[in-house]
Amino acid sequence: MGKDTVQDGQVVTMEYTLRVDGEVIDSSEKNDALEFLAGHDNIIPGLEREMIGMKIGESKEVIIAPGDGYGEFDKEAYLDVPRGEFPADMKIEEGMELHVSDESGEQRYARIDSIENETVHLDFNHPLAGAELHFNVKVVGLREPTKEELEHGHVHVGGHHH
Ligand code: ZN
Repeated sequence: MGKDTVQDGQVVTMEYTLRVDGEVIDSSEKNDALEFLAGHDNIIPGLEREMIGMKIGESKEVIIAPGDGYGEFDKEAYLDVPRGEFPADMKIEEGMELHVSDESGEQRYARIDSIENETVHLDFNHPLAGAELHFNVKVVGLREPTKEELEHGHVHVGGHHH
């Protein structure tokens, strides 16, 4: 396979639209085209696998099952937290998204599912957990990574570290 196709170790620029149940969730029309280093876990694995071998200008529709996307919905991934454990001046409302650290100090995404009396029910499922993802992707650029990008395992947009 030549270097004119998507493969591990190449920086890929892609345009994309993500739909779930026919609704546009995200797209490169809202954001910029996405640049990523293939083969370094920078995009969801199911999508990257389908993009391997694509050429510049080629587009593809990719349907990804929850297990290859943002995970299955986990009914157990809930936690009840007393209101008092949140800072008193913090505004707490249903649907709010936050990051909480677990016992090991790792940041985890959580969403406030509901509030009952003095108890806050947190949902740790990714917002797209359980969703079948419909991607329309188009490869618009391919390049070699810089040495630094390859060492870091991600792209440096506009020469800036991120
Ligand atoms: Zn870096």
